Amino acid sequence: MNIKRNILLNPGPGTTTDTVKMAQVVPDICPREKEFAGIMDPLRNDLVKIAHGDPKEYTSVLFCGSGTICIDVALNSLLDAGKKALVVQNGAYSQRACDVLRYYGMPFIELAQPVDRKPDLAQVEKALAENDDIGYVYMTHHETGTGLLNPIREVGALAHKYGAFFITDTTSSYGLIPVDVYKDNIDFCMSSAQKGIMAMSGLSFIIGRRDLIEKSKDFPKRSYYCNLYMQYEYFEKTGEMHFTPPVQTIYAAVQAVKEYFAEGEENKFARHRRVNEAIKAGIDRYGFKEALDRSVQSGLVSAILYPDDPDWDFEKIHDYCYERGFTIYPGKMQNKGTFRLCAYGAIDEKDIEDFWKVFEEALKTYHIAVPVQYNHG
Ligand SMILES: *Cc1c(COP(=O)(O)O)cnc(C)c1O
Repeated sequence: MNIKRNILLNPGPGTTTDTVKMAQVVPDICPREKEFAGIMDPLRNDLVKIAHGDPKEYTSVLFCGSGTICIDVALNSLLDAGKKALVVQNGAYSQRACDVLRYYGMPFIELAQPVDRKPDLAQVEKALAENDDIGYVYMTHHETGTGLLNPIREVGALAHKYGAFFITDTTSSYGLIPVDVYKDNIDFCMSSAQKGIMAMSGLSFIIGRRDLIEKSKDFPKRSYYCNLYMQYEYFEKTGEMHFTPPVQTIYAAVQAVKEYFAEGEENKFARHRRVNEAIKAGIDRYGFKEALDRSVQSGLVSAILYPDDPDWDFEKIHDYCYERGFTIYPGKMQNKGTFRLCAYGAIDEKDIEDFWKVFEEALKTYHIAVPVQYNHG
């Protein structure tokens, strides 16, 4: 089968390999057959191993849903009665976490921090020291809207120093930037199949400490469908998801994880770096400015400021590139016009070089001056 290859520069779902696409085409199977549980069991262990966890101590619990389901599940399931959550809020995804807590009416402290630099660890520690009822600290590892990389290891250590769990949203970094649950002080992290492991959307997973999940059995139950212990217990008893799993998506994830280990963590990390450097080369060539200083970036997302050129029109540039097989993505910053170029998916630097050629044609077609113009500085 000949499938058109599109280059997706949005932060997942990314470009997938043909072998991952084709892995979804399987004989029909009832997911309650033992054969299907036999596929999920090694997948769950492999997902733990990608985060360098020991499957005896850490487990992965699968959910049918986009990545946000894991934010919801982790937040609502892991807070004991009488405890508060502490959220380090410095971007669109940690704001989403605050929204989830608000929707559940759960008690939490929102520690708002600037979106363009690392959070102030002294303020995190102060909040922990002043509140002896923090059940967990929550932080996004990689704020995908801006490309900011947060210091999870340090914040995880602070959470533990004050007897709280540490939950981190690694949705857009897991399988991309090496994460180690032990070294990074992670009790719970999460991701979604369409991001770092380069599979299909519809399958998401929480990786976390078995002892703490067991402990959460007695925590208040705030959701029926989205409860971590309930899903975990069902997996432990039967090897299956409580409710219907995304069958074909799981086959794709199994293939993607196989390809992850075949490429290897270091090689994959190096490839994403290479892609990012090719992105930066074009940003510099055309004189674009970025929202964040490169020193605080993840190396996966570039949030690029819209030029002040009166002819600049993101939609037109997007459409020009899209028609030629390259997808660029709007930004997610409140006060600034930005667009994003991301180093996700099964692509390499050559794809980015091809992209910049098309992008340059688009700039010419719409008469945008190069180097691009900014009014201030
Ligand atoms: C993509 C992403 C999610 C999940 O978003 P969905 O649209 O629900 O898949 C969560 N957190 C971060 C940091 C992400 O980048």
